[in-house]
Amino acid sequence: MTNARIIDGKATAAALRERVGQAVSGLDFQPGLAVVLVGEDPASAVYVRNKGKATTGAGMQSFEHKLPDTVAEADLLALIEKLNTDASVDGILVQLPLPDHINSELVLNAINPDKDVDGFHPVNVGRLWTGEPALAPCTPTGCMRMIREVTKISGKEAVIVGRSNIVGKPMAAMLLAESATVTIAHSRTADLRERCRNADILVAAVGRPEMIRGDWIKPGAVVIDVGINRVPKDDGKSRLVGDVAYAEAAELASTITPVPGGVGPMTIACLIENTMVAGCRRRGQSVPKV
Ligand code: NDP
Repeated sequence: MTNARIIDGKATAAALRERVGQAVSGLDFQPGLAVVLVGEDPASAVYVRNKGKATTGAGMQSFEHKLPDTVAEADLLALIEKLNTDASVDGILVQLPLPDHINSELVLNAINPDKDVDGFHPVNVGRLWTGEPALAPCTPTGCMRMIREVTKISGKEAVIVGRSNIVGKPMAAMLLAESATVTIAHSRTADLRERCRNADILVAAVGRPEMIRGDWIKPGAVVIDVGINRVPKDDGKSRLVGDVAYAEAAELASTITPVPGGVGPMTIACLIENTMVAGCRRRGQSVPKV
């Protein structure tokens, strides 16, 4: 039997998008988000379309730049430079992955940090860890919003499984900033199960279907599942599962996020919030609280 409270990421994200839209309508400018898509990857195209819809849905301008996967690195860098200086663009997002002939790090680092709404630029990484106002990565920002809603963070044991630059590490910085005691686990961590069993707040960002089992969960823990894994079904189709064995974990957790419908929808909502934040800060205006 499921005892856990299940966080409805779709509803939480819709409410956040709504609040951002209301805040945007009170600004004296219209924030703009430029999304750059290189190539024809269908999953990336869907993400870009959804980002565009969420942006206009919140009353912001959406600029889509689609480039062929044969684009020269220099041409992509030239586009970034143009967007960096375009006054109507407050946020720039380059959809990953980029084709192999393009150096992703070079491209991401070319984005003006004050327009870096993905929060991947080293300047924003530094700001995040030092506590200066940063543009922070959207997925962990969404996770923090959900965790804050269900538990006090200060003094809690938080375990993050995964140390990527886009999820695990920024998640650690954010939980630490709110005074959790943070452990970052990864593929070389010894006794991973035992470590997870100590977690009052467990964040899974691994990319391995249902790796975290029910008996890895401390009774009463808050479990945030970032993983998105496509696994085959008996009928030849596929379904999405997280990094946590949901049904087992839900028996012990106090709160859990489902996959799909948990962390995923919050990521785009936080992206449009970041765009509004970037627009306000660039103009020296105070940022509305949402
Ligand atoms: P990465 O592949 O960049 O990182 C995975 C991390 O998991 C690494 O640090 C790796 O350790 C660790 N890991 C791998 N295997 C194990 C293991 N057996 N035991 C412990 N740790 C392990 O992934 P991302 O951070 O980019 O993404 C993680 C998951 O989150 C994916 O499923 C992805 O699809 C999903 N995701 C979801 C988003 C959303 O909006 N909901 C956004 C971004 C990602 P090591 O460093 O030692 O290799």
